[in-house]
Amino acid sequence: MKGGIYIKPVGILSDIHGNIEALKEVLENAEVEKWYCLGDIVGYNSSPRECVEKIREIEAHTIAGNHDRAVTGNLDLNWFNATARTALKWTVDRLSTVERSFLNELETTGRCTIGEFEVLLAHGSPDPESPFRYLLSPGDIRSIFPFMKKFDILFVGHTHVAGYFYRFDKESWNFKPAPGGCRIKLQPGKKYIVNVGSIGQPRDGNPQASFALFYPGQKEIIIKRVEYNIGTVQERIIEAGLPESLASRLKDGR
Ligand code: ZN
Repeated sequence: MKGGIYIKPVGILSDIHGNIEALKEVLENAEVEKWYCLGDIVGYNSSPRECVEKIREIEAHTIAGNHDRAVTGNLDLNWFNATARTALKWTVDRLSTVERSFLNELETTGRCTIGEFEVLLAHGSPDPESPFRYLLSPGDIRSIFPFMKKFDILFVGHTHVAGYFYRFDKESWNFKPAPGGCRIKLQPGKKYIVNVGSIGQPRDGNPQASFALFYPGQKEIIIKRVEYNIGTVQERIIEAGLPESLASRLKDGR
């Protein structure tokens, strides 16, 4: 990245959730200038430690997800359903002091300039009062307009459903899921809200790991899916004594 000229894309990851096989496969499949991580490195799957170490190793610009906040005691476990809670309790004991303090220090939003674009990063929502709100409806999008003023692109994760919001008239936005991946051409003066999907536990019907590549020079964002060895992850979940449903859902992408 010399003088702001990007030869390679930047990569945006989210919701890794302790799935090191999926994370490694994605990292091997993309050559980027820099990685950005939108949080939820841990939770659900059985390799939280390896995932935190990998994210530190690649020096990704990282923000916190709700699961990262929970394992550091910053978010009440009652916020989660029973299965997620069981996995979080299991995860807390697996993390070292160094890994926990790395997670503890993460902010809930990030901002950066990539090429000529002002980019905002959030796990769920850029509203600092409710960072883990789900952006689903046109109303949800309207409520975050005030936070989008200075930015061209907002990248989020959290729902584990890849896609993007598009404006279909002056007031209204719709979400377009992209379970098979997609290419978004950026037009000058327009704003974009892109959900990069989940690396470690996709829920949009496609079990492949999801992430985004942003080419600031070509002015485009690509949501990509990558296959990984789900069987290995399922075996490890069972061996670890984590809930069986966490293993079975991976192959369905739910
Ligand atoms: Zn998540």
